Amino acid sequence: MNIALIAHDRKKDELVNFALAYKHIFAKARLFATGTTGTRVREATGLPVHRFLSGPLGGDQQIGAMIAQNEMDLVLFFRDPLMAQPHEPDIIALLRLCDVHNIPVATNIATAELLMKGFERGDLAWRETVKG
Ligand code: PGA
Repeated sequence: MNIALIAHDRKKDELVNFALAYKHIFAKARLFATGTTGTRVREATGLPVHRFLSGPLGGDQQIGAMIAQNEMDLVLFFRDPLMAQPHEPDIIALLRLCDVHNIPVATNIATAELLMKGFERGDLAWRETVKG
């Protein structure tokens, strides 16, 4: 199970605390992240995280490429709804690809908790069958 982690700057602490709280579940997945988010999560949890470029430099698009190739199973994207981002088109493209390929995506911590609990229960096992 491949999980993508992205957090905008003012949401990074929230995602790090979330990753610590759900470390036991994250440990069962392969983690991918945009650059700075990946460093923060790796430092805090000690879990291995594959780091892509920083979001504004193309990291969202790299994660989008994995989604397009059906290689990403779950996306946790803690975005900042109160601040404009220079890479807004990339963010919209990433969310669009999640919808195109039917990939579970959480854009806030409340939904992220539901997805992690579902993953722990095995609710995302269907992803293994669609990956073939
Ligand atoms: P970052 O990118 O993890 O490198 O900060 C996230 C983003 O802003 O999209």
